[in-house]
Amino acid sequence: MKSLCILGATGSIGQSTLDLVRRQPDAFCVEVLTAQSNVNALAQAARDVHAKHAVIGDETQFGALQSALAGTGIVVSAGRQAMIDAAACGADWTMAAIVGTAGLEPVMAAISTGTTLALANKEALVSAGTIMTAAVSKFGGTLLPVDSEHNAIFQCFETHNAPQVRRVILTASGGPFRQMGANELSMVTPEQAVKHPNWSMGAKISVDSASLMNKGLELIEAYHLFPVEAEQLDVIVHPQSVIHSMVEYQDGSVLAQLGSPDMRTPIAYCLSWPERMAAPVARLDFAEIAQLSFEAPDMVRFPCLRLAKEALAAGGGAPAILNAANEIAVGAFLDKRIGFAAIPSVVESVLAAYDAPVPANIADILALDSEARRRAAHQVEALAA
Ligand code: NAD
Ligand code: MG
Repeated sequence: MKSLCILGATGSIGQSTLDLVRRQPDAFCVEVLTAQSNVNALAQAARDVHAKHAVIGDETQFGALQSALAGTGIVVSAGRQAMIDAAACGADWTMAAIVGTAGLEPVMAAISTGTTLALANKEALVSAGTIMTAAVSKFGGTLLPVDSEHNAIFQCFETHNAPQVRRVILTASGGPFRQMGANELSMVTPEQAVKHPNWSMGAKISVDSASLMNKGLELIEAYHLFPVEAEQLDVIVHPQSVIHSMVEYQDGSVLAQLGSPDMRTPIAYCLSWPERMAAPVARLDFAEIAQLSFEAPDMVRFPCLRLAKEALAAGGGAPAILNAANEIAVGAFLDKRIGFAAIPSVVESVLAAYDAPVPANIADILALDSEARRRAAHQVEALAA
């Protein structure tokens, strides 16, 4: 039996992971489930999979979680430190599915145990970069990419042929606003932005998909996960989301991974790797799909992709600043305090004005993250006024 820790168990990725776990109760035992505030969903999940320990981030919900799990024997705890401690429980496999850099400390705690880390929480890797990947090596763990593009690349990237890889091509759906003009784009609402045409996801990543910041974060993520240079990373818009990404070799071969747009496929691959397990996803019907199409991304209408490329090229603290400013801007857009077009403006102005020192450790990353958030919040105030 594989022991599991699921960080962010109540979210979209957390629930998809639990769905797979529930279907194979003999293969997995759940040590820890965490969530920030949704007590009912956390308690339900903990009962369903007979978790040993449930942790709620919001301390004011401790009593509610305790009552919800009374008589089950499931250990209950609350608060930020309890979550970080639980992440270090030493499970064989950890799903990192907290959204944002709020996931960074729990992820680092999990890594320190040498766990196999299934990483959905891209913001943590974008911010911490080589500090995180070095820690995985130091503690003898394994990093498995959950993000569908990176999971596809992982399946197609022949490590022994790394020098023969010419390009890694990330596919992007283009999001719900792919065909909108700049004027229309400035008027879109959060309700429209979270309605992704192909994928069902949490609110933050849905907005990132609509702005193409998600693809930008994914370029940075790919840079840290695979032995390639930034110049070898390409993005192509592929509205059907059937090809999840591709690897091109020197001999002209392009290997692609295809599948229905359902995160249970990449999560299943991470759960069972290096083997494969069954997943209850729709099979591809190629005759019905009939056509796959491709187009170049438009970095003028979607400046977030350009900003992410620039941050990757700049290195140092730039990706962490980009990510933190984006988290604040997306939150303000979801709260209807700023418009959609203001998201890249906030990110760009924070990046341009903040000449941060190169971070050397996680404490540096957290300091940089919080300063970038403070500056972004200031920009939001100015725009919202
Ligand atoms: P979500 O909003 O549905 O869920 C987020 C989870 O994180 C919840 O369990 C929530 O309780 C927890 N959480 C939120 N704030 C927290 C905090 N401050 N401290 C601790 N826990 C907190 O998000 P999601 O769509 O499941 O995405 C999770 C991560 O996976 C993100 O980084 C996202 O980019 C990545 N991802 C998601 C998808 C997808 O299809 N949903 C695909 C690829 C990558
Ligand atoms: Mg993705």
